[in-house]
Amino acid sequence: MEIIDGKRISEEIRQEIGAEVASMIDKDLRAPHLAAVIVGDDPASQTYVASKEKQAKGVGFTSTVYRMPADTSREELMGVIEFLNNDNDVDGFIVQLPLPAHIDEQEVLLSINPAKDVDGFHPENVGRMALGLPCYIPATPNGIMELLKRYQVETAGKSCVVLGRSHIVGSPVSILMSQKTTPGNATVTLCHSRTQNLKEVCREADILIAAIGQPRFVTADMVKEGAVVIDVGIHRVEDPSKKSGFRLVGDVDYDEVAKKASMITPVPGGVGPMTIASLLQNTLKAAKKQVYS
Ligand code: NDP
Repeated sequence: MEIIDGKRISEEIRQEIGAEVASMIDKDLRAPHLAAVIVGDDPASQTYVASKEKQAKGVGFTSTVYRMPADTSREELMGVIEFLNNDNDVDGFIVQLPLPAHIDEQEVLLSINPAKDVDGFHPENVGRMALGLPCYIPATPNGIMELLKRYQVETAGKSCVVLGRSHIVGSPVSILMSQKTTPGNATVTLCHSRTQNLKEVCREADILIAAIGQPRFVTADMVKEGAVVIDVGIHRVEDPSKKSGFRLVGDVDYDEVAKKASMITPVPGGVGPMTIASLLQNTLKAAKKQVYS
């Protein structure tokens, strides 16, 4: 069994991006600029944004964070988005979700300039992705595809079962895995809460991608011998043996499933670190379009 090491691959990607930024600076071009907008003080969102900022700076990007209070009005937020949409010094930006309840997330995502939508959530990018056209692919699905590519996982003609149909993970990854690409060309089954005979369906999978948001849901009896298992889930579970009192687990029962899988992503250190690395890749792509045009 081989562990798919997302921590190592994400470091590799950051080094590649850092080298590209250095060569842009050598050519007297400006560094890529990623901006983030965060509204409110949700602790998880604050941690994500701080981590994005740190990693963006780590590869030599310019990073700007717009921290706005929880009672920010729709108009104030739209004003910042409008500013970022039109600021030629900003290559890409994200609006950290979730937003406070009084702000309509869909309206906000729709207002982002698709050329700067490095999260890949704007319908224009989603549509382009579905058609296999150049676009920004959402960070987590892109990170999964990058792991499969860099570990040279054979996907063509394989049976791939995706657990979960969210717009940010399950649905896009199912589209990407079915496209005429490498990785891709898989025969994909997309499962959700209404799927019948889930265990049997999962047992057919050569590649099983779990993104259902249920801790250790995928047990060994749901996995085919020799399958490649990608675990997207992240959950804190109590663990009195840890100083912090908790540990992180995924959607997969790692200890048992690892005994059957040929390859598996751990949690933490699998898909998680790839997400920010993919966001940086998208930002570099946006910057290259901007500064070389
Ligand atoms: P959502 O909650 O948006 O979607 C969960 C999906 O799983 C839904 O399609 C739901 O079905 C399906 N589902 C839930 N329970 C079952 C069940 N018992 N049987 C079959 N299907 C089920 O989750 P996300 O896609 O946002 O996230 C999934 C996991 O990935 C979470 O643990 C999240 O924390 C993690 N995550 C990790 C990231 C990373 O960077 N590594 C990034 C994003 C998410 P239905 O549609 O019918 O309701």
